[in-house]
Amino acid sequence: MILLTSDTETKPTQAMRMAIANAPVGDEQKGEDPTVNKLLERTADLLGKEDALFFACGTICNFVSIKAHTRPGDVVLAEHMAHIIRAESGGAAMTSGVLMEPIASERGIFTADDVQEALDRVAIAPYLYSANPRLLCVEQTHNFAGGTVWQLDELRQVCDFARQKGLATHMDGARLLNAVVATQTTAKDFASCVDSVWIDFSKGLGAPMGAVLAGTKEFIAQARRYKHMFGGAMRQAGIIAAGCLHSLDHHVQRLQEDHKNATYLARRLSQIEGITVRDTSPDTNIVFFDVSELGIDTAMFLNLLQKHGVKMGSVGKSIRAVTHLDVSWTDIEVAIDAISKIARAYTNATSNGAQSRPTAQKTVLQIA
Ligand SMILES: *Cc1c(COP(=O)(O)O)cnc(C)c1O
Repeated sequence: MILLTSDTETKPTQAMRMAIANAPVGDEQKGEDPTVNKLLERTADLLGKEDALFFACGTICNFVSIKAHTRPGDVVLAEHMAHIIRAESGGAAMTSGVLMEPIASERGIFTADDVQEALDRVAIAPYLYSANPRLLCVEQTHNFAGGTVWQLDELRQVCDFARQKGLATHMDGARLLNAVVATQTTAKDFASCVDSVWIDFSKGLGAPMGAVLAGTKEFIAQARRYKHMFGGAMRQAGIIAAGCLHSLDHHVQRLQEDHKNATYLARRLSQIEGITVRDTSPDTNIVFFDVSELGIDTAMFLNLLQKHGVKMGSVGKSIRAVTHLDVSWTDIEVAIDAISKIARAYTNATSNGAQSRPTAQKTVLQIA
């Protein structure tokens, strides 16, 4: 089965498994795991931040960061399709008691004017009645917008503006390194725009799990307390950190291949009748397309595709394909071929006037 559902599908390579097996370990909770400490030093340096903290996954990095930046009742500004709003089970509301103020945009990227408009919406009532805007979150790359990249100047403008307005700034950098490779901008430059930032090792970097959050010493000290409170502290976590270190050494530059494969997939799909590709030259490794012109719904399409040995996911009514370490150029060709066959079958059926509308099945939302 070719798994284009998500870049979380990556399995640890043999070399990564060896690194994991041989990792020196200690008590992470006490700050005594040498492999975790090495990863933290390395990531803090990569992101140009004073200190860093290890987590099992990215979702808890977002919870802990929002908790550390806000107080209950505060307002958090984020793009309207941000992972923080759409795909974390309402966690920020539960763990931090914050209000989310969504900023609408086409590509996940917004401007200082958009931030000002959001602040105006929040402050529509007199001071006593309105909630306090406290934090701006940005997502690099933006997942549900199609792996879109904030250029450095766009990011800097928005974050500088937010700071002027007294907001803290946080980057959900699950795929920050995809943006780094795509733009040849350093992670440090992107990270310098925000107060806190984390990267995920379990996406395109190919580690089985792990995320690192970075910021000032003071911020990380507070984050450490919340991490403990949420049950995020670990013991011999060097086992996990070793996979993350290995991915930094071996899987960063190769993200370029994933981007090339995604562009190729998008271009070829756009030439198939009945397939509408959202962006024929995706910024990174995520491709969205629509199959409604074929007269079938997403669930039916995904089922047919699976019969051809290819799995993709969906977000709302769009199909989402994500390229990664375990998907080769040949796999992409197989996927294109399968989709061509399905499209041909349905465009023919429709033009023959046949009853080709299948009954809808439950759509699976693929969100990772
Ligand atoms: C995957 C993802 C997360 C959550 O990370 P996990 O490691 O799966 O918890 C957060 N934000 C974005 C943009 C993501 O793509």
